[in-house]
Amino acid sequence: MPPIGVFGGTFDPVHFGHLRLAEEMAAAIGLSRVLFIPAGAPPHRGVPRTAAAHRLEMVRRAIAGNPCFEVDAREIQRPAPSYTVDTLTALRAELGNEQPLWLLLGADAFLGLPGWHKWRRLFDLANIAVAARSGAQLLQPDTLPDDLKHELSQRRQAAASAVCPAGAVLLRQMTPLGISATDIRDTLARHGSARYLLPDVVLDYIHEHQLYRYP
Ligand code: ATP
Repeated sequence: MPPIGVFGGTFDPVHFGHLRLAEEMAAAIGLSRVLFIPAGAPPHRGVPRTAAAHRLEMVRRAIAGNPCFEVDAREIQRPAPSYTVDTLTALRAELGNEQPLWLLLGADAFLGLPGWHKWRRLFDLANIAVAARSGAQLLQPDTLPDDLKHELSQRRQAAASAVCPAGAVLLRQMTPLGISATDIRDTLARHGSARYLLPDVVLDYIHEHQLYRYP
């Protein structure tokens, strides 16, 4: 049963850092599909300013043409808030207990995990793949919050090809791309150029709908 990746984010907007993370993890783990799941109202960071329909459409356009990437609108269709634990529970119910699932996270998101709703349960529902943006960020034990350090010590560190349904953790360095959606929003608000930070089709959509032009 080929493993499936689950990649959540606000994607406000989606950019090459996100796409590269998904691409490199798909290759490393052998994912047959990566589900991009835009958050509706992420509980730990407040409601994104950009309408969910726009964030969804930007992801849709960014991944068009990649047969391995899919967009999944369930979190934005659900009344707020979007808890990852609920999303994974729903996917488990649909796909069965044997299906290997991999939750894909950037290292910054992983370090914040103990703030997430029922976060320990995530390890029962999926494997977790963490993409570090540099060797130094490869999660030295002394930079980890105590809760997370303890949880990790209980978990199996996965080989990249692990096919267990859930419970393993993979830490992997990815090509460092210092791109953030916050910087892109700030640049666009200043009428600066965000070209080459995100796909042209997404930038075209942003201009077409005059997104990120805050008063
Ligand atoms: P913002 O700047 O609005 O916080 P962001 O660019 O960090 O947004 P999110 O949608 O919050 O994007 O991130 C979704 C996931 O992608 C998170 O797991 C995050 O760690 C990861 N991620 C975001 N940017 C990068 C990047 N440049 N390289 C690797 N991972 C990234």
